Amino acid sequence: MGAQPLFSLQDFYGGSIRARLAVAHLLFSQLAGELAAHAAFTGMLAQAVILQKDMARIMADLDHGALCAVCGAREGGGCCSSFMSGENDALQLLLNLLIGVPVAALREDEECCFLGNTGCLLLFKPMFCLNYNCQHIRQSAAPAQMQRLEQAVGRLLQQQYGLEQLLLVVLRRQGRLIG
Ligand code: SF4
Ligand code: SF4
Repeated sequence: MGAQPLFSLQDFYGGSIRARLAVAHLLFSQLAGELAAHAAFTGMLAQAVILQKDMARIMADLDHGALCAVCGAREGGGCCSSFMSGENDALQLLLNLLIGVPVAALREDEECCFLGNTGCLLLFKPMFCLNYNCQHIRQSAAPAQMQRLEQAVGRLLQQQYGLEQLLLVVLRRQGRLIG
């Protein structure tokens, strides 16, 4: 059996989105089995799925998807640009793979490569995407609804951060992360 590759933080957070996507798939092929047996990790991941569903329910109540669909149909589209795809890091993409999201680049144009016909492919998204609530969304929601959404987003982001930190610990323990 060949030596397992070493990674650097640059592999996870730097480089092109295509390179980070490749790293996420490599990590998935090598770590999925081990992580499935890691009780703390699986517990945290299950909690993140619950938090993601809570947040999605609040967004649905706000008709978030319909608002974005209107934007997406306009010339110039919505706010999911190819520049924004660079906000995704390899560990967050790995978290998506671990919950069964078939993470792949869906397009090669000026839009984010994770933007599909029915919206964003990802369930765990970057902080910038989750925190972004444009004027259309703010104007259509009551302050209490926005507060509920912001709290739900905050809880999910905290959980995603905790999971990424735990992944770094696991990789460092294995001696596979430089730096
Ligand atoms: S977040 Fe706002 S600007 Fe972006 S696509 Fe949705 S409605 Fe449009
Ligand atoms: S919400 Fe999804 S599709 Fe939109 S920019 Fe963020 S990752 Fe890309």
